Amino acid sequence: MRMNSSLTEDLPDLPHARQLKDGFPWLRFGRELEVVFRRARLEESLGYIRANLVLAIAIAIALSAMDALVLGRALDRIPGTIDVAFTVPLLVIVLAASFSPNRQRIYPPLAIVAFTACGLSQVAIQVVTSLGGAQFLFPAMIVTAMYVYFLAGLDFYAALAVNFLVLLAYLAAGHLMALPGTEFGYDALTLVAANLIGASVAYMQERTSRFRFLETGLLRELVARDGLTGIQNRRMFDLHIQRVWQQAVRDAQRIAVLLVDIDCFKEYNDRYGHQAGDECLRAVAATLSQCARRPLDFVARYGGEEFALVLYEASREYVAEVSTRIQRSIAELNFLHEASPVASRLTVSIGAAYILPTASRSPEGLIQLADEALYSAKGQGRNRVVVMEAEYQNLQTGRFEKRRGLRLG
Ligand code: GH3
Ligand code: MG
Ligand code: MG
Repeated sequence: MRMNSSLTEDLPDLPHARQLKDGFPWLRFGRELEVVFRRARLEESLGYIRANLVLAIAIAIALSAMDALVLGRALDRIPGTIDVAFTVPLLVIVLAASFSPNRQRIYPPLAIVAFTACGLSQVAIQVVTSLGGAQFLFPAMIVTAMYVYFLAGLDFYAALAVNFLVLLAYLAAGHLMALPGTEFGYDALTLVAANLIGASVAYMQERTSRFRFLETGLLRELVARDGLTGIQNRRMFDLHIQRVWQQAVRDAQRIAVLLVDIDCFKEYNDRYGHQAGDECLRAVAATLSQCARRPLDFVARYGGEEFALVLYEASREYVAEVSTRIQRSIAELNFLHEASPVASRLTVSIGAAYILPTASRSPEGLIQLADEALYSAKGQGRNRVVVMEAEYQNLQTGRFEKRRGLRLG
């Protein structure tokens, strides 16, 4: 149950990748991923499960009508009562549960109980009708087993347990009630075979769906991250600022963008080599991630040796506090930079801008303002913070106006 090791050995240390590397013997992930998987599986297949429940109700009604037709009133008394008073209402309850806000909690156990009850009532119907001389109802047992394996929205083990219990009940009831030998023997063997086939296919199906979950999750993690530093990439910054901008408009909260650019990084590379430069970028990225840790704060690699932070509910004090913290932390990294005309250690320049967003404004202007602040910090000699605080109407250039259809990046 392992992915080809040559495919996984280069993957970054992310939860989905780890699980792919470790494999998932017995169709189980680690605890956290398992919870996410189960939740996602039920939500994703909800429409399908509901349609299948409607199908089950229709099948139950159709078979029940057929029973009434072919069995005659006397023999159909018990099967007819089971179908009308028990099976159909039970399926309706399960269908209703799939609409409950608590379905994640109640659907799986309820479905197990309900389909076990349906299976056992099928056994009862088989026994009653067989003893009454009608052995031709048996195919309904196979239909029930297949339904439980493939359509009921149960995981592999739950489906296996339900079907195993029903099979045992059928074998025990057939034996105890001494059902007619030839037919019972043949039917029992058919049911065992159908269960083996059903279980085998259900196992493969779940294995495939778990692989797909891990691969999709990994892909999502990979496209969100910068390959070198492991923090979020420019693409995620673009998505995040759009999202947070909308929220800030609704909440009437200020947001800030801080552009952090390493000073004289070209010289760093030239002096210490590209490898050392990469190490430096990783260290700076990790440091920045520590500097803005409120829940809605966001850090990304903006490009090259430039990083971007987005701060939510950004007061002037908070912007200053984060900027100071960044400069202090970079100083504490204590990376020697003998080729820098600014200082003997690695330094950064920070351009910060903050604004109260409104619906008629767009985030591009905020980023542009931060860029201007950064340019100014560089111009003033680097290793410093320049904060620009602007209200829209005060800007002469008009560059804050929302440009429709213009994408960031
Ligand atoms: P300034 O103080 O004005 O920002 O000067 P600077 O040298 O930092 O800026 P410049 O834009 O002239 O050079 C950026 C350098 O960053 C050049 C480029 O080789 C280096 N760089 C960009 N991406 C990477 C990377 O992924 N790894 C390494 N090692 N260097 C990178
Ligand atoms: Mg630079
Ligand atoms: Mg730069």
